[in-house]
Amino acid sequence: MTVTRFAPSPTGYIHVGNLRTALFNYLIARKTGGTFILRIDDTDPDRSKQEYVDAIMQDLEWLGLTWDRVERQSQRLDRYHAAADALRGMGRFYEAFETPTELDLKRKKQLNMGRPPVYDRAALDLSEAEKDRLREERGAGVWRFKLDQQRIEWADGILGDISIDAASVSDPVLIRADGQVLYTLASVVDDTEMGVTHVVRGNDHVTNTATQIQIIEALGGTPPAFAHHSLLTGPQGESLSKRLGTLSLRDLRAQGIEAEALLSLMARLGSSQPIELRMSLDEIADGFDLSQFGSAPTKFDVNDLFPLTARKLHGLPFSEVAEDVAALGVPAEKAELFWHVARDNITTRADLAAWWTLFSQGAEPRIAEEDRAFVTEAMALLPDPPYGPETWSRWTAAVKEATGRKGKGLFMPLRRAVTGRDRGPEMADVMPLLQKKPHL
Ligand code: GLU
Repeated sequence: MTVTRFAPSPTGYIHVGNLRTALFNYLIARKTGGTFILRIDDTDPDRSKQEYVDAIMQDLEWLGLTWDRVERQSQRLDRYHAAADALRGMGRFYEAFETPTELDLKRKKQLNMGRPPVYDRAALDLSEAEKDRLREERGAGVWRFKLDQQRIEWADGILGDISIDAASVSDPVLIRADGQVLYTLASVVDDTEMGVTHVVRGNDHVTNTATQIQIIEALGGTPPAFAHHSLLTGPQGESLSKRLGTLSLRDLRAQGIEAEALLSLMARLGSSQPIELRMSLDEIADGFDLSQFGSAPTKFDVNDLFPLTARKLHGLPFSEVAEDVAALGVPAEKAELFWHVARDNITTRADLAAWWTLFSQGAEPRIAEEDRAFVTEAMALLPDPPYGPETWSRWTAAVKEATGRKGKGLFMPLRRAVTGRDRGPEMADVMPLLQKKPHL
């Protein structure tokens, strides 16, 4: 059975980049009736916050990305320490004492000599007595996994065949000097023990994957199928890293983006498939195919979400927005008509408020100088509300009769006077919604 997971660190709000990861893993599980685990990567007690755990869950719920199970790494520390003991037992785990400054110096020297800045494994040569002395002087060391220096290969679900020379990678630190278990170890223990079959994540994890494959194999597990999606850039190809803060799912939601718009875009962006609005995750899952995604950076433009949002709203039945409409104060008997008139003229739900203000308070009339006398005469022929479905045709017929105007010259100045706009909903529908007689 397929088992996937989304593994955010609760150190901030999730953004469009994270969503891509969450969605891909969710869809793989959904397509095959598998299990989707929400794994909270909270081994860092200083940076992990419960408020972010709650926020991540709310954001996923908003999108309908429901999980079958939640796992928290902070509750599985004994499992990670057991794995660390096992690695120690097989001679694949060693303590190293270099300070960050020393490591930095080593790297600089290597770079100066034109060599890749890979940890030189000096700690492997320390005798027990030297380690005791260093522990005394500097406190506990970090624990590094001893990589097998051979090529690590896997068939990546997006990148194709990957081959990385382990000799070009530093032995990863899996436990910090203060005893904190790091993500690399925690993640492989979880993936193995939870039977994760597919891991999709950003291509910033490719090197991690290489080392994780060796750790999993050392622990007797079978590596899952890995796929690495490209990272998102801005519309011009610029890095998004600084702007991701403003592209959090909650920001997008606050801007009025609809969940289906976001899901429809993110499930196809960067693939060879067209982006079309899909109203359910089942439909999105149907056409989803990881192999259709390319490895090149994927351009993301927040503005693409607005037409999709508008398209969703244009097709939405009244029952789906009844609450929003009621909250604006639209009288119950006008609510459905209001929605049908307004929905084709909005981009987000927030735009509804302006339409209701227009209908209830009246618009700022736009009257051309040459039409002023005409509009004044026309207004005198309009009774006070309430108006009905016949009001517009009766009124314009009376105005036509009185003034001799017809066609555009008749309708346009009246539309402008009533709505303040050149375009918009059918005037026959607008009139019954007006709560006051239009003012001049
Ligand atoms: N917590 C890690 C991250 O957010 C998870 C990476 C993974 O999927 O293994 O980058």
